[in-house]
Amino acid sequence: MKINNDHLIVGDNVTQMDCPKNKEKFAPGNLDTIVIHYTAGRSAESSANFLAGPVKASAHMVIGREGEIYQLVPFDTVSWHAGDSFYRNRKWLNKYSIGIELDNAGVLTKVGSEYQAWFGKKYQANEAVFATHRNETSPKYWHTYTEQQIDKCRQVCEMLIEKYKLNTILGHEEISPGRKQDPGPAFPLDKFRDNLLTQNRSDEPNLIDKEGVVTANLLNIREDAGVNFRKVARPLTRGTKVKVIEERNGWFKVETMVEGWVGKGFIDVS
Ligand SMILES: [Zn+2]
Repeated sequence: MKINNDHLIVGDNVTQMDCPKNKEKFAPGNLDTIVIHYTAGRSAESSANFLAGPVKASAHMVIGREGEIYQLVPFDTVSWHAGDSFYRNRKWLNKYSIGIELDNAGVLTKVGSEYQAWFGKKYQANEAVFATHRNETSPKYWHTYTEQQIDKCRQVCEMLIEKYKLNTILGHEEISPGRKQDPGPAFPLDKFRDNLLTQNRSDEPNLIDKEGVVTANLLNIREDAGVNFRKVARPLTRGTKVKVIEERNGWFKVETMVEGWVGKGFIDVS
């Protein structure tokens, strides 16, 4: 699965649909956010058809319960998923965000031993979870998401974050509180975005592969990036050639006879 140059997902179980009502491109620099939704619908296909139709709503994609994908709008084009919304100093989030809909019935009502959606379909106990919404104070029943669906959503978000340099993942419930409650407590939103965004932000080492030369008379080489770490060898002397392999917080990890960290200001990198 990948995103091609037309801003479309290509891969197995991906269906491209026509949604001619959405034409406006994102303004340069605007797109930096993903908004997660549930469809409150009967199936991914029925929701995708509905959203691609003449209604005043749409989304970039719908992800089904087996991980199948329906893409309605290319990722360089604004879709109509957020509606009246705000986050920090922004209003009307459509022009900043990609909208991902997950096939899910939403709130369920217990009827006998079954759980009924607003459109009448009944689900068994293993598809209902009793939980309290982040914007509410008492619990109710919610349709569960499937593992395949959450996993596919994660893969898609990973690709989007990488390709479009996105830095924020939000639930519709967080940008339209009171009006919207999707994706709701059955979706592990906090964990989901922590995993995706922390990795991207700071945990990944900044790897370098360059030749360098020591410019200080004597340069301490340490176990890690900081003056409090143990020296791993005698100081390097001016003119010593090193291989720079990583950078972190003003320090270079270098390789010479030994491997260790040195202040990056004392290395001339070619
Ligand atoms: Zn929504």
